[in-house]
Amino acid sequence: MPQTFLYCVVGLLGFAVGSFLNVVIYRVPRGESLVRPGSHCPHCGSGVRNRHNVPVLGWLLLRGKCADCAAPISARYPLVEAGTAALFVAVAAKFGWSWQLPAYLYLAAVAIALAAIDIDLKRLPDRIVLPSYAIAPLLMIPAVIAEHSWDAVIRGLIAAALLYAGYWILAVLPKGMGWGDVKLAPLLGFYLGWLGWSSVVVGAFAAFLLGGAAGVLLLAARAATRKSRIPFGPYMLAGAFLAVFAAAPIASWYTCLLVPTA
Ligand SMILES: [Zn+2]
Repeated sequence: MPQTFLYCVVGLLGFAVGSFLNVVIYRVPRGESLVRPGSHCPHCGSGVRNRHNVPVLGWLLLRGKCADCAAPISARYPLVEAGTAALFVAVAAKFGWSWQLPAYLYLAAVAIALAAIDIDLKRLPDRIVLPSYAIAPLLMIPAVIAEHSWDAVIRGLIAAALLYAGYWILAVLPKGMGWGDVKLAPLLGFYLGWLGWSSVVVGAFAAFLLGGAAGVLLLAARAATRKSRIPFGPYMLAGAFLAVFAAAPIASWYTCLLVPTA
């Protein structure tokens, strides 16, 4: 099957999943059902009409306002939908028609939901993270059967244990990590370990580099003080995806710096 066909299918799937993630991002932290009631305006309570429920286009049609009460609808809704579609296409470009593709698409969806909720509320809900401990390995089963990639599974499980231990130590230190970050670490460890040790190393370090850089920028812009707690989940997830897409070039560049003759 041609790649362009894959990108079209996965991109459309991304818009639909992104639309669902908007529901997840709003309702999961509030403990609400994901199915009932249907989408409605949080301001006036009227239901969203089908034609306005189309990802991105619905928001554009409404010009960012509720059809009934004209209350503004956050631009984050279409951004989450377009962002999910873009990340899905990038994951498809990386993995192509492979057995691992569904598992990494799932990670992309989880990453967008968790990053948005962590930014909003500074938490990573167990209702998303804990089921993923089972869903991620289950989605890898076809790859294991088709490609006998037992070494990848074992590496993934070891990396999950290592990252969990590392974040656990950081959490018990004074002013340490949040426990939500500790629980997210083994999920990312499994996905990065599956790809290889260089991905684990790049992903783990990138999280701290990105988080540190963002902290410095926020302090400089006076958007944060030394005491404010910056959610770390988005940086863990961004670091993991940086590793998924670019671990090999980053690792070889770094090795060149350490061993110039290699
Ligand atoms: Zn309304």
